[in-house]
Amino acid sequence: MKILLVEDEPNVASFIKQGLEENDYSVDNAYDGKMGLGFFSKNQYDLVLLDIMLPKINGIEVCKEIRTTDNSTPILMLTALSSSEDIVAGLDAGADDYLVKPFKFQELLARVRALGRRKHLGVGRSYKIADLELDINSKSVKRNNVVIKLTPKEYYLLNYLFRNKGILVSRSDIAANIWEESFEKGSNIIDVYINYLRNKIDKGFDKKLIHTVMGMGYILKED
Ligand code: CA
Repeated sequence: MKILLVEDEPNVASFIKQGLEENDYSVDNAYDGKMGLGFFSKNQYDLVLLDIMLPKINGIEVCKEIRTTDNSTPILMLTALSSSEDIVAGLDAGADDYLVKPFKFQELLARVRALGRRKHLGVGRSYKIADLELDINSKSVKRNNVVIKLTPKEYYLLNYLFRNKGILVSRSDIAANIWEESFEKGSNIIDVYINYLRNKIDKGFDKKLIHTVMGMGYILKED
C-alpha cells in the first residue's frame, strides 16, 4: 500500500514515515501543499495523509483540489488545530477522516488500516451499518432505503459515530470533535442531539443502532 504524506514539520514527518514503513507501507513525503499536489498527480496512492497548516497551499485547499479529479482515494487529515471549525472545513473539503495532533502512532495506524481496507474493497466513500447508510459525497443518509433529512449538526454527529463504528465515544470525545461553539461542562447539549438523531434514525425500527453506555457515552453498533 502506497501512502502520500504531506507534512512540513520534519520531526513529525519522519516519525510518521518511519512508523508506517516499519508496518510495510511505502511512503512518499511532500513538504508543502504544492509538492503534495505534484506527487499526487504523478503517482498512484492508496491513501493521503494531509496536514492542514502547510506552506504554499494549505491542506484544505489541497484536499479540495484532489477531490476535483479523484473521489475515491481516502484522505486522512492531520491537524494541530483541535478547533472543530477546521475539522468541519476538512470534512467539507472532501476528507474522509482526521486525527488531532498529538496522536498516538497506534491510533494513526488503526485509521490508516481502516481507510485502506475501504479503498481496497472498493466500498467508496460511504458508511453502512445494518440498513443505515451515510454517503459522504452527497451527505445523504438513508435507512431501509428511505432518505432521512438531518440538520448539519446531526449529520456531523452521525458521521462521527460512523467513523468510530463499534467504538465507545464519550461526550467529551464528541464535544472535542464536532462542537463548534464552546462547549460548557455539564451541558446536556450532546444528549439532546443524540436524542434528535435517535428519533430520526432509530425510532420505529426494531434494530436500534445508537446505544447508550451508562455514564460512559455512546456507540454505533448493530446489537
Ligand atoms: Ca504543518
